Amino acid sequence: MNKPVVIPDFRIGTGFDVHRLVEGRPLVLGGVVIPWDRGLLGHSDADVLLHALMDAILGALALGDIGHWFPPSDPTWKGASSLRLLETILHSQDLHGWEIRNVDLTLLAEKPRIAPYHTRIRESLAGVLGIPLGRVSLKATTTEGLGYTGRGEGMAAQAAVLLCRTPEEEGS
Ligand code: MG
Repeated sequence: MNKPVVIPDFRIGTGFDVHRLVEGRPLVLGGVVIPWDRGLLGHSDADVLLHALMDAILGALALGDIGHWFPPSDPTWKGASSLRLLETILHSQDLHGWEIRNVDLTLLAEKPRIAPYHTRIRESLAGVLGIPLGRVSLKATTTEGLGYTGRGEGMAAQAAVLLCRTPEEEGS
């Protein structure tokens, strides 16, 4: 008798985030501190790359968004590293059995140049996600001087993620 074909359950998610650039804050991107004269403003460390990534993961499983998981009114997360927020999501019961197959991130920023930190950011992301470096893509673009990113008023990030779970691991 032929073995039944096991079809994995795949889910795709996208995320988008924006934070304002201000003086007197560290610039943290993908969990890596980037030397720069300004940083992103937010309740946590305002890591725009990780916020877009978290929303993509939550979106793939229809689990709401990070504003729902980590309300700005909750002092627990004030000044927190967004790596901690991401770990909270990854270790939650909602993610049980799900494997992240790959992530693809795009940073929209006029400055600074991210190229010198590109590999470190990817390694940071791969480490916290627990997946090989080759499954973590990071791209960066300017917006040609246009709009709030072009004027250097803020940074934006987009993320896409693919999650996979085999039927044997389904618990609900
Ligand atoms: Mg955010």
